[in-house]
Amino acid sequence: MHLSTTLIRSLRNGYTRRYVSTSTTVQKRICIVGAGPAGFYAAQYILKHLENSEIDIVEKLPVPFGLVRFGVAPDHPEVKNVINTFTKTAENPRVRFLGNLSLGKDFTLAELRERYHAVLLTYGADKDRTLNIPNETLRNVLSAREFVAWYNGLPGFENFNPDLSGSTLTLLGQGNVAIDVARIVLSNVDELKKTDITEFALEALSRSKIKKVLLVGRRGPLQVAYTIKELRELLKLPSCSTIWRPNDFRGVQEAVPKLARPRKRITELMLKSLSEQSKQPNSSGIFQPVFFRSPTKINGDDCVQSVEYAVNRLEDDRAIPTDEMETIQTDLVCRSIGYMSTNVDQELNFDNRKGCVRNVSGRVLKRTSTGCDENVADVEGNFENGLYSSGWLATGPTGVILTTMNNSFGVADVICKDFQNNIIRANENRSGLDLRGKRTVSWAGWKAIDEEEIRRGTEKGKLKEKIVNVDEMLKIADGK
Ligand code: FAD
Ligand code: NAP
Repeated sequence: MHLSTTLIRSLRNGYTRRYVSTSTTVQKRICIVGAGPAGFYAAQYILKHLENSEIDIVEKLPVPFGLVRFGVAPDHPEVKNVINTFTKTAENPRVRFLGNLSLGKDFTLAELRERYHAVLLTYGADKDRTLNIPNETLRNVLSAREFVAWYNGLPGFENFNPDLSGSTLTLLGQGNVAIDVARIVLSNVDELKKTDITEFALEALSRSKIKKVLLVGRRGPLQVAYTIKELRELLKLPSCSTIWRPNDFRGVQEAVPKLARPRKRITELMLKSLSEQSKQPNSSGIFQPVFFRSPTKINGDDCVQSVEYAVNRLEDDRAIPTDEMETIQTDLVCRSIGYMSTNVDQELNFDNRKGCVRNVSGRVLKRTSTGCDENVADVEGNFENGLYSSGWLATGPTGVILTTMNNSFGVADVICKDFQNNIIRANENRSGLDLRGKRTVSWAGWKAIDEEEIRRGTEKGKLKEKIVNVDEMLKIADGK
């Protein structure tokens, strides 16, 4: 056990420095920006593998967990169990959580690099990709990211209020986010009542007139991005029928034997569902996947009325538009074609086209390096010393929590090795962020918010009632 530092946990607040050095051992000070899965998994790995290290996890919001709190669907509470592991990491005395602090607003990257030996950026992807087609800004054209933020209580979305008065919702994109939105809209609200879905979303969904949800993809059934578990859940939704369009499945049965196992299983499930669709009982909701259609224009004067699509054919798995078009009526459109990271500091080598930080194995490339290939991987001079990135910010916005964990463990391993091999020289003390004048939320502050959310939830018979207003969060964190 290392007795080179004495722990003096501050009872007054969470951001007073908790260590007083009693020997000459220099603590390796690491700052992680973003308290989502990437940030927590990296911290967990570094704590285990790097001696004499202290970690500050800096988070834009007063509350931690990123998309585990604000992305994962409320009816999937088991997925949120990872929060228990993250909590253990946060409660390690070598870790300090600093909520309500934003890179790019409250401090710069240069400041961080001056005050820590190593900085790991894991601030995720909080914008959405656009289709860039005419009328994408018409009323009732939304993004799945906004819709999810609304039902999950991301601050700033409490008045989002999607118009659910029409009968048809069109989801553009066929990933698991689109499937989440379809399931939430087509679920019986009684099933959602017990979850941590926001009260305002529950109320709006209980008045929803949406009966039909179209899930439109530019490619075919053999290329869907959604996964089998998520599709199966939708197929099993009570009082909802799934109606496939048989023409979309031409040649699919013949292709099955050649498919790799996960793709084979999901394709077989779709074919089974297609073969059984005529036997489905009448139901109040309809889920209709539509394939080989690329949206080219949204029609409507003030509000969306229909979407125009190019009919595609496939060439080497790519969608190629034909001369044929199809127009499908709808009352509401939700784009679900992926999230996107943003560049929050001009010092950062950011690839605007891909929407991620330029890096190789998590090491951030100098701004003079534009390639991200392995050719530059071994040249130390190509990297910003002590600057790293992991999670969706580094990989792009795909992958489940497990994928993010593996990526972050890998990058954390690179960080540990760079310290051990003296690539990062921790030979003088670093002070950590200067928090004077900053209103931060400590881990104890977050726990107070969490307890209040659980208390409010218990009153309503649900898991928790999320607080969505930042000022209210701050007051609770401050014990007011
Ligand atoms: P994030 O989770 O986005 O975390 C980034 C953190 O950085 C956030 O807390 C953010 O507030 C913070 N931040 C942002 N900007 C700043 C800044 N400037 N300064 C400081 N902090 C900042 N995976 C599953 O395995 N199961 C699921 O059921 C599942 N459901 C999902 C549902 C949706 C709608 C989405 C979008 C994804 C889902 N995923 C799911 C995928 C999973 O959420 C991601 O793999 C994972 O969250 C990515 O982690 P991350 O840490 O890179 O990013
Ligand atoms: P995704 O899985 O990448 O799916 C994006 C979808 O949008 C694909 O169907 C894609 O089609 C389509 N698309 C992209 N650009 C398009 C364009 N210009 N025009 C038309 N269609 C376009 O992204 P996501 O749904 O946002 O999910 C992100 C990640 O989170 C995924 O890894 C997902 O598995 C994960 N997630 C998991 C869960 C869960 O486990 N329950 C829930 C939610 C999210 P193409 O394939 O043709 O590009």
